[in-house]
Amino acid sequence: FHFYTPALESRASRMLNQEQLLRQSIALGGFELHYQPQVRTDDGTLAGFEALVRWRHPERGLVSPEEFVALAEARGLITAIDRWVLRQACSEACAWYAQGMPRVPVAVNMSAQEFRHADLASDVAAVLVETGLPAQLLHIELTESTLMHSDAQVQRTLHALQQQGVQLAIDDFGTGYSSLAYLKRHPIHQLKIDRSFITELPGNEDDAAIVTAIVQMARSLRLRTVAEGVETAEQLALLRTLGCEMAQGYHIAPPMPAEQALQWQKDYCHKLQAQ
Ligand code: C2E
Ligand code: MG
Ligand code: MG
Repeated sequence: FHFYTPALESRASRMLNQEQLLRQSIALGGFELHYQPQVRTDDGTLAGFEALVRWRHPERGLVSPEEFVALAEARGLITAIDRWVLRQACSEACAWYAQGMPRVPVAVNMSAQEFRHADLASDVAAVLVETGLPAQLLHIELTESTLMHSDAQVQRTLHALQQQGVQLAIDDFGTGYSSLAYLKRHPIHQLKIDRSFITELPGNEDDAAIVTAIVQMARSLRLRTVAEGVETAEQLALLRTLGCEMAQGYHIAPPMPAEQALQWQKDYCHKLQAQ
C-alpha cells in the first residue's frame, strides 16, 4: 500500500522547486560569503576568519547554510558550491592582505563528500596558485563524521592537503562519535570545540570539565583549540583561564559580509594598537 496525502506532494514539489532554484543560483553565482573573526584568548589579537556561505534566494533573501547544505549534498550540488566558496574566500583574503590587513588564515567548511573526490587536493592547489594565497593561510574545516567514515581515498586527500601546507581543523568537535583514534591517524592541526559545550559556561561544571579535557588532550597532541559560539565576556575569560587558545562567536563579532569584515579588521587592529 502507498498512502497519499496532499502534504506529501507539496513537500516533494517544494524540494524540487528549491533544487531548481539552487541549480540556477550555482549557474548564475547567487551566493555570498560572510566572514567571522577568530581571536587569541590571551592577547586578543586577530587569529583568522571563517568563511560562511549564504544563498541569495530569489524570493527569501539571504538563506543560512543550515537550510540548503543538506539538500545540496543530497542532490550532488555541494561540490559546485564548496569550490566557489574556496575560490572566493582565497581571493577575498588576498585582497585584504593587499590592503595591509594582518596575514591571518581564512577557513572554509568542506562537506564530507568532497574528501572522497580524488581531485580535491589538486583542485585546492590550483585555486591557491590562481588566487596567490599561500597554502599555510588556508584552513579547511571538516567534521568528525568525515574522519569516522574515512577510506583510503579520504586518507590520501588529507595527506596531500597537508603536504601542500594547508591546515585541517575538526569542526563541532565533541559532537560526533567518541572514537579518538582518528586524531592519531589523520594530519589534523586544530580542534573547534562545539558551541554546545560553551553555551552554558561558566555556570555548567560538566561543560567546563569537558572543555578542560579537550584543551589538555589537544595540547598533548600539539593541536590548537578554538572555542565556537562564544557569546559573553565571562565565557571568553574562562576559556582563557582553561587554556583554550582561540575564540569565535557573537561576543567578538557575528559573521559579516566581506566589506564589513574588512572595516571590522581595520577598526579592531586600530583599537588594539591604541591600548
Ligand atoms: P559551523 O562551521 O560550525 O559554523 C558556525 C555556525 O555558528 C555559523 O552558522 C555561525 O553563524 C554560527 N555562530 C557563530 N558564532 C555564534 C554564536 O556566538 N552563537 C550562536 N548561536 N551561533 C554562532 P551558519 O553560518 O548558519 O553555518 C551553519 C553551518 O553550515 C556551519 O557550521 C557549517 O557546518 C555549514 N557551512 C557554512 N558554510 C559552508 C560552506 O561553505 N560549505 C559547507 N559544506 N558547509 C558550510
Ligand atoms: Mg565551521
Ligand atoms: Mg562548528
